[in-house]
Amino acid sequence: MSLNLAVLAEEWGRGTLRDPLQHFRARTRRHCPCCGFDGHFVSSGWNGQEAFRCPNCSSRPRDRQIALIIERRKIDLMKARVLHFAPEWPLFRKLKDNPGYVGGDIIQRRNANAVVDITKIQFEDASFDYLVCNHVLEHVPDDATAIAECYRVMKPGGLGFFSVPISGAAETWNPPADMPKDEIERRCGWDHVRLYGRDFGVILARAGFAVTEVTFDAADREAYSLLDETMYVATKGGRDFNWPDRGAVA
Ligand SMILES: [Zn+2]
Repeated sequence: MSLNLAVLAEEWGRGTLRDPLQHFRARTRRHCPCCGFDGHFVSSGWNGQEAFRCPNCSSRPRDRQIALIIERRKIDLMKARVLHFAPEWPLFRKLKDNPGYVGGDIIQRRNANAVVDITKIQFEDASFDYLVCNHVLEHVPDDATAIAECYRVMKPGGLGFFSVPISGAAETWNPPADMPKDEIERRCGWDHVRLYGRDFGVILARAGFAVTEVTFDAADREAYSLLDETMYVATKGGRDFNWPDRGAVA
């Protein structure tokens, strides 16, 4: 594990401003599977989530979930064609030197190496071994087209990591066409265009994916500071993805 002093200074500086009392609370040491850091994580704010970000790589729970799946399945993203939408820093930093990596955002950003519109992906069919699409689809008005595009560019036998904020409801709620944007955001969250329910896996499956809902047990959630969030792993072309609660299965 190498310490990233610039990120440490930024995360602890921001964390201290947002929630200075966190330094005086009893805290558990955590492990970050993205960068290998061991120690105290940073809270997301005085009324937020305790131990939210890794101070050494800025990973959030969703980044650590993917890192754990990759680690336990011994997946080598450095040698694969990877399409990563709206890239999070921890994975972008790690993969940006892989010539097969496309970190695409809808506009140019520092943590992206391409401009990609998820509803009109400029790559040929079956171009990518892995897709990473974390908390993107809740911002996309035409999510059916976006998911169909993801399916199209994935190679048969490929694997996609999808997550969105999920409400407690069984079904996804799409606002009526005439609902004002303010009201939609009040119900769904800032810049979100719908509220996904527990049927999100079914929505992915409509495009042709086989979907496995991956969760982590209490011991993992404690050790790596994960939320009780589901990661949807989508496969194409009959490949099965059996996820055990713990332990690696090659
Ligand atoms: Zn980290």
